[in-house]
Amino acid sequence: MSGKLFVISGASGVGKGTVLAGVMEKRKDLAFSVSATTRPPRPSETEGVHYYFVTDETFQEMIRQDEFLEYDLHANACYGTPKGQLEEKLANYHVILDVEPAGAEIVHKKRPDATLIFIMPPSLEELERRLRGRGDTSEEQIALRLKRAKWEMDQKDWYDYVVVNDRLEDCIEEVLNIIAQKADE
Ligand code: 5GP
Repeated sequence: MSGKLFVISGASGVGKGTVLAGVMEKRKDLAFSVSATTRPPRPSETEGVHYYFVTDETFQEMIRQDEFLEYDLHANACYGTPKGQLEEKLANYHVILDVEPAGAEIVHKKRPDATLIFIMPPSLEELERRLRGRGDTSEEQIALRLKRAKWEMDQKDWYDYVVVNDRLEDCIEEVLNIIAQKADE
């Protein structure tokens, strides 16, 4: 099997992680592409499951070795999609990448077959409330992420699908429908 590629983007705090967990629970033929990042792990995160947590030096070495499909610097950290794990997963699964719009644009150019899904918050005010509610992000990071969120939301028009995460169950259902259309065609 050669799996289908999906990209999901949406501002930090939009609930993408919860949407993704709900989607993956329902589709056992869908694998998550694990990114490398230089930011420190959050208490709830596990090495190799949520991210590969690497040093700046390792990240730079991975760039030199051409190990990334795409990478980007944002929110004071580097994030990138390692090609090796992606290709391995695509041999047996459909794969979903959680990347922000700059990365999504590169994936779109390199893999025009990828389906791009943008998750929107009901409003910027609601996004700010959710970011604060998470309790694991500093004020400085919240300000940075809100500024970034405004820019990200301006990018949504070139995505294949835009889904609003107002009611979580509806959002999961909608993303599952999009994936089913492509994966089962
Ligand atoms: P967080 O630090 O909250 O886990 O993620 C911050 C942002 O980085 C999110 O918008 C997420 O989509 C993005 N991101 C995660 N992994 C990658 C990656 O490999 N490449 C790019 N370009 N963005 C990523």
